[in-house]
Amino acid sequence: MKKIIGLALLLASQLSTAALNDDIHLRGQWTQGGMVLGVAPAGSQVELNGEPIMVSESGNFVVGFGRDEKGPAILHVTHQGESWQQSFPISQRDYKIQDIHGISQKIMKPNPANVQRSKTEAALVYTARQTKREGLDFLLGFKWPAKGPITGVYGSQRIYNDVPGRPHFGLDIAGPVGTPIYAPAAGVVTLTHDDMFYSGGTLIIDHGMGISSTMIHLSKILVKEGQQVKTGDLIAEMGKSGRATGPHLDWRINWFNVRLDPQLVVSE
Ligand SMILES: [Zn+2]
Repeated sequence: MKKIIGLALLLASQLSTAALNDDIHLRGQWTQGGMVLGVAPAGSQVELNGEPIMVSESGNFVVGFGRDEKGPAILHVTHQGESWQQSFPISQRDYKIQDIHGISQKIMKPNPANVQRSKTEAALVYTARQTKREGLDFLLGFKWPAKGPITGVYGSQRIYNDVPGRPHFGLDIAGPVGTPIYAPAAGVVTLTHDDMFYSGGTLIIDHGMGISSTMIHLSKILVKEGQQVKTGDLIAEMGKSGRATGPHLDWRINWFNVRLDPQLVVSE
């Protein structure tokens, strides 16, 4: 039996081979910022919108959808000469948009050295998120990395005098400097950096198949690159390093470089 929740199945156009259909299971949210977990027979090849995606030896795969994804998502599976395809609409979200008018426009222009520095750092982050490790740590779900009031959500955006700012992709959890931060899921640490220009103390954990957590504005990082962590391990302390207005954890989840909404995947 396929486990597809909601109307997606009813709305989906179908072009499938009956036999393969029974062996493909999908669960997750077909929405902007959402993550969908899939399993197909071992040895299957899977494409999302015509692009091949990573499939584990066991046939597990994962896909994710960005903040402004329009959809539909067309999933295509081939296995031993049979093929299966479905088109899933991606539900569109309303983000928190804040209009700020009548303020003097302060355009922050970092000096050229800092521009160069932030570009170099962005490249390190990009590379860490491209890791193609065949782990399946994300399958067990995500726990809250820290406790505290939520002060920023995925997708929100400020518009200054009609000029849209960069959307916010993290989930902000506020707390005093030094608040412990725990691994939301198991994985391998792929990047640690004590002080990036924008994000300050920065930590990336690879949860397998392109799914990663990024933790920023940290005051202290307690793990090393290459280290394996388990869910709930103490990994860092909250801070306000980099360009942060106050102490908080900004937690991001990615599928490679597609930004997902941590609140859609965190369970307990
Ligand atoms: Zn933030």
